[in-house]
Amino acid sequence: MYSFDYHRPDSVEAARSLFAGAEDPMYLSGGMTLIPSMKQRLAAPSDLIDLSGLQALQGIEHVESQGGTSIRVGALTRHNDVAANGLVLNQLPVLAQVVSSIGDNQVRNRGTVGGSIANSDPAADLPAALLGLQAVINTQDRQIPADDFFHDLFETALAADDILVSVDFAVPLRATYQKFRNPASGYAVVGVLIAEYATGFRVGVTGAGPCAFRACTLEDALNQSFSPKALNDVEVPDAGFNSDLHASAEYRAHLVKVLAKRAVSDLSQHR
Ligand SMILES: Cc1cc2nc3c(=O)[nH]c(=O)nc-3n(C[C@H](O)[C@H](O)[C@H](O)COP(=O)(O)OP(=O)(O)OC[C@H]3O[C@@H](n4cnc5c(N)ncnc54)[C@H](O)[C@@H]3O)c2cc1C
Repeated sequence: MYSFDYHRPDSVEAARSLFAGAEDPMYLSGGMTLIPSMKQRLAAPSDLIDLSGLQALQGIEHVESQGGTSIRVGALTRHNDVAANGLVLNQLPVLAQVVSSIGDNQVRNRGTVGGSIANSDPAADLPAALLGLQAVINTQDRQIPADDFFHDLFETALAADDILVSVDFAVPLRATYQKFRNPASGYAVVGVLIAEYATGFRVGVTGAGPCAFRACTLEDALNQSFSPKALNDVEVPDAGFNSDLHASAEYRAHLVKVLAKRAVSDLSQHR
């Protein structure tokens, strides 16, 4: 690992000012992705700005937004703390389901919601939840709807100096997450989250493409008729899908439909 300067500011403003004054800085949250990247010399920041002292990025609370109820999750909240939170378990159990499927216990004890979303790994679980649960991403000065957030492989709407402060998840009528897990890492080969709102169904997909996306053709079919059979004739084209040693693009496209059908069956039992 190269040498670097370490900072632990106590406010968002101080963190951003350190960022502005450094040569090649990076923010640090749980370090589950960034530290291994530094060890492998895939990242070599001149300055590490540790966000763990920022109060504004802590906590889970209930907020009224988007004309309904949302659960606001602070960016520094660790996956295991989301999974054990009473408000989440009562009002947004699907989020506990999603984060409980991440990696292993060590990763869930260190990794944070903000770090996972900012990193936007194509196989990360939370991006599917953001899209399915019509989330809004709050930075120090902007609110970004999840639909506008994921741009490409490891690319999001965040600017390099933006700090992801919290995420608002809209509470659905019902929702579930189905994941085809890589047995080695735990990451999603494909993951599908389906949520129902008064306005219709939303389907968030991760693992299949360079970044998470909404499967609008599946949403349309489910809005016509909510049953696994309704998805039989829907095409999921594999153009642009990831193809690697874990799964071909064609296989991933197949998985999207299989997991979506499983999600529909699961939700049908919880009417
Ligand atoms: C063995 C292993 C298995 C894993 N399995 C899974 C899995 O199954 N599913 C899954 O979804 N994930 C998985 N992960 C990733 C895990 O979820 C981490 O939480 C995630 O990679 C990064 O979170 P972090 O808090 O550790 O971020 P860090 O590593 O600290 O940072 C990651 C990136 O985000 C930036 N960043 C961090 N916080 C902020 C912020 N608040 N604002 C702006 N930028 C920020 C950093 O600058 C850096 O670029 C796995 C990781 C490991 C090591």
